[in-house]
Amino acid sequence: MDLCDYKEIQTLLGATDGFRFSKAKGQNFLTARWVPERIAEEAGLDRSSGVVEIGPGVGCLTEQLALRAGKVLSFEVDERLKPVLARTLAPYDNIEVVFGDVMERDLAAEIAASLPGLRPALCANLPYNITTPVLTKIYESRCFETVTVMVQKEVAERLCAAPGQKDYGAFTLLTQWYAAPELLFTVGPECFMPRPKVTSAVVRMTMREKPPFDTDERTLFRIVRAAFNQRRKTLVNALDGVCGKEKARAAIVACGFPETIRGEALSLAD
Ligand code: SAM
Repeated sequence: MDLCDYKEIQTLLGATDGFRFSKAKGQNFLTARWVPERIAEEAGLDRSSGVVEIGPGVGCLTEQLALRAGKVLSFEVDERLKPVLARTLAPYDNIEVVFGDVMERDLAAEIAASLPGLRPALCANLPYNITTPVLTKIYESRCFETVTVMVQKEVAERLCAAPGQKDYGAFTLLTQWYAAPELLFTVGPECFMPRPKVTSAVVRMTMREKPPFDTDERTLFRIVRAAFNQRRKTLVNALDGVCGKEKARAAIVACGFPETIRGEALSLAD
């Protein structure tokens, strides 16, 4: 069975009582075979890997992961896909599909129970509507060695942006606190059904075992949020509500930056 074949997918879904794609669940399924193959390949898996997938759809990426990893644990919120996945993934004995909302699951506990002894990786074509909350959850779980995900190109650029670039923001810095991200390749709308309006991109993140700097995380992110909430303001003005302008000015100058600098010009290390 070719799980990326448009007609095959229609037939599989048609058998489930007139399936309609759910926009709210970010259902854009891949129809270009090279894409799940390349995503799975770039994830750098081997038989010692235990892969968590979010949103298998009809299972086109799931099977590519199963062909390479020790085991795949896949979370799908849409119960209508139960009979479809039971059929499409039947040839593989190293896939466990859990039906439920991934946002409500304890990832560390699920990994300990279902992927013991394996090196945890995450690989998914993420539902676009929950990209930021699900990535935050993935980061904060601190469970994974690598995270390879397809997201909207605009989001991918935000994750990987450098200081001064237009996409550089608070979420860039949160990402870099937890990971070293790398934009690998883009995927056009013609590779999905239904076709999304935007281009997608695949990002691979090498997760850090511990934060890159020894500093107080809560204070750091209070400063980051304040700096980017009002990104057109100078950092001195943006930090007024955090510590007062005078203290902010003194600290910025003591670090060797001009007092007119904006937050968006500074790196995480700065
Ligand atoms: N992996 C398939 C592919 O690449 O063709 C489908 C990807 S589609 C972009 C996103 C999938 O995530 C859908 O199957 C959708 O039902 C599922 N999904 C959406 N929200 C979810 C959630 N909160 N928890 C688990 N799965 C979710």
